[in-house]
Amino acid sequence: MSRNAELFERACRSIPGGVNSPVRAFRSVGGTPRFIERAQGPYFWDADDKRYIDYIGSWGPAILGHAHPEVVKAVQEAAVHGLSFGAPTEAEIVIAEMLIERLPSMEQVRLVSSGTEATMSAIRLARGATDRNKIIKFEGCYHGHADSLLVKAGSGLLTFGNPTSAGVPAEFVAHTIVLDYNDSEGVRAAFDAHGQDIACVIVEPIAGNMNMVKPAAGFLETLREQCTRHGSVLVFDEVMTGFRVGPQGVQGLYGVEPDLTTLAKVIGGGMPIGAFGGKSEIMNHIAPVGAVYQAGTLSGNPVAVAAGITTLRLLSEPGFYETLASHTRALAHGLTSVARKHGVALSTDFEGGMFGLYFSETIPTSLSDVSAGNIEMFKRFFHGMLDEGVYFAPSAFEAGFVSCTHDSDVIDATLQAADKVLATLA
Ligand SMILES: *Cc1c(COP(=O)(O)O)cnc(C)c1O
Repeated sequence: MSRNAELFERACRSIPGGVNSPVRAFRSVGGTPRFIERAQGPYFWDADDKRYIDYIGSWGPAILGHAHPEVVKAVQEAAVHGLSFGAPTEAEIVIAEMLIERLPSMEQVRLVSSGTEATMSAIRLARGATDRNKIIKFEGCYHGHADSLLVKAGSGLLTFGNPTSAGVPAEFVAHTIVLDYNDSEGVRAAFDAHGQDIACVIVEPIAGNMNMVKPAAGFLETLREQCTRHGSVLVFDEVMTGFRVGPQGVQGLYGVEPDLTTLAKVIGGGMPIGAFGGKSEIMNHIAPVGAVYQAGTLSGNPVAVAAGITTLRLLSEPGFYETLASHTRALAHGLTSVARKHGVALSTDFEGGMFGLYFSETIPTSLSDVSAGNIEMFKRFFHGMLDEGVYFAPSAFEAGFVSCTHDSDVIDATLQAADKVLATLA
């Protein structure tokens, strides 16, 4: 029995499903999850000492590659001075200033400890600031696991959503309207019907939790226009895309300014952190200045903040995003050309250090498009690549991530593995 299998069996006895976050359990692809022992640059090693090229990068944070020496040093130095104080520090001001300087839409920001906390707090803030209850979200976008966001579309158009998790009362999602991603017409109709009551629209401006789906022309602009017209708050959930797709997130790429932005993942460089921020006029509704309550024992944790500051500083080095995008482009284009050679229907898309892989002829624009892909073929591809030492996301509904350490040698090794695996799928 492999050590991974032994550990999984043991983990299942003390941890539900053997994992602390469901996708890690490999349920949608089958097989034994790999237990990771260590990581360096683009690689990690499992409990059987097998090395993998890692394309999940901790689901986004590892944009500098694993265990970047300067980030590790910053964490070590911070830790020596104490792990947590529950009182303010200068480093929190430094990271806040760095975020505000980088994102023109952000005038003030508050730190939390995860993406879930960031979106949950942003929604409460939007509701408190507008004194309205309803929110709009999009099918296939994930915003963490707060109750009011674990919801899928109901049966008819403009009906309110149904909970996607047991334990979420229908009443808790009664104020959540769920629309199709990229459906500008649906957005206009929802505002026509409920505009006075809509506190906010929350969206992944490039979706990365239904594989990767980019916004169609005019979609983000429609959200901006409708929110402005109806006095609703536009929330860009850039927990995944922030500093991942470019130096100013998706808002910098598309030139659409949200009122609030949520961040996490990259801004902690692998340590637990999240943030939400935006216009001061809205942020002033947060306690202790305003009446919207929000707090956290470990918010602004000095060790996490040190990792974040160092990561953000390294991302600002000239040419960083050009190099990152060139690695991602080489991977995406390489995979489609190997697939074409073997007659396999595979398409790809990418932006900055993030990519989508779809076993379909065309690039999807919604969750139903992604669901229509060849999921069986994805599973075979996933396991074939895993055997070859390449670790892609263990689900057809997740994006992939490249770091600046995924250089041309690493990409070439990946493409050679893909050549072998795709030959067997043809
Ligand atoms: C990962 C993610 C979240 C949740 O962040 P956690 O840190 O896992 O709580 C929220 N929104 C988006 C877009 C994400 O990708």
